[in-house]
Amino acid sequence: MTLTVTILGATGSIGRSTTDLLAQHPDRFRVGALVGGRDAVALAKLAREMGAQFAALADASAGPALAEALSGSGIPNGAGESAVLEAVARDADIVVAAVSGAAGLKPTHAALRLGRTVALANKESLVCAGDAFMRDAARYNAKLLPVDSEHNALAQALGNGPVSDVAKMTITASGGPFRTWTRERIAAASATEAAAHPTWSMGMKINIDSASLMNKGLELIEAHHLFALEPERLDVIVHPQSIVHGLVYWLDGAVTAGLAMPDMRVPIAHCLGLGDRLTIARGRPLDLAAAGSLTFEPADEARFPCLRIARAALADGGAAPTVMNAANEIAVAAFIRGAIRFYDIADLVERACEHFAARYRTAPADVDEALAIDAEVRAWSLEATPRMRAAG
Ligand code: MG
Repeated sequence: MTLTVTILGATGSIGRSTTDLLAQHPDRFRVGALVGGRDAVALAKLAREMGAQFAALADASAGPALAEALSGSGIPNGAGESAVLEAVARDADIVVAAVSGAAGLKPTHAALRLGRTVALANKESLVCAGDAFMRDAARYNAKLLPVDSEHNALAQALGNGPVSDVAKMTITASGGPFRTWTRERIAAASATEAAAHPTWSMGMKINIDSASLMNKGLELIEAHHLFALEPERLDVIVHPQSIVHGLVYWLDGAVTAGLAMPDMRVPIAHCLGLGDRLTIARGRPLDLAAAGSLTFEPADEARFPCLRIARAALADGGAAPTVMNAANEIAVAAFIRGAIRFYDIADLVERACEHFAARYRTAPADVDEALAIDAEVRAWSLEATPRMRAAG
């Protein structure tokens, strides 16, 4: 049986890894809809190569360019929110939800409501509206498969074991480019330095989040929702080689871990396989003897305050993670364009969490509420950013 796979975020890094795998297994998969952001030429090229059944861009103004780039291909296409939702509504066995940022919430949730099997790579769905997403996944009988390497490793290490037998789960962090830097040196770091990720190749936003360890904080929040574990039973450990991705500590002292080379195709293949194992051409097998030693160290919340802030938001619950995520997106964008310094990211996020703490004690009931909070916090954070620069 051939499975139809739709990809939201097809031209990004996860989307590319997914199409690479699909192209390797043409007897097993066919491509349903491909959804991109605004790059008409890249999406059209991919849609032609993959024989997509539909192509859509989120940016409505890119519609004419997409239609032009796909002319003669016979591939129906569109642009804007309705076209994205049409792409989601098309028949698919698996939807890979890899749009980055808050823009991924609506299409991902639409796939859940259709009861699809969703390979989830969009972090914000669970960070901003985790309660609503998990509730609706159960309500609409949708299956959520974690694509992120850490959660995928946890899912594999957990197997069929009950979460009630788990003492704790730990996700690993590479430590990012600043792992060995002093606080003073980190304080003066440029966006280029922060974006130089040692083990994974990813987009700019997630690279900065990896340098600040905010990415690990977001992943703790995701793990809390995915595995229904309380914050106290979730942990981070720094592991520079990025070979062990997640560890499950059982009540009896046994530990099972998920290991793999740092290659996103491994967790994606696990999701696409739906219980079967897919071979990966041109994948490098894990060679532990060549790796030599695997090292571990505690995460330093003094040099990486974003991890402390994220843990606090997770513990606070309610909409704290929604607020934190929105402020972080604005702060990271400001850092990338050179408007603020590295530790200003944590300062802005912490101030936003304090500012909105009293207003948002309850978790967003649905995606619309999460997006409304997101928009309000973004507006506040944009206002706060230049003041911070002047003060600093
Ligand atoms: Mg990750």
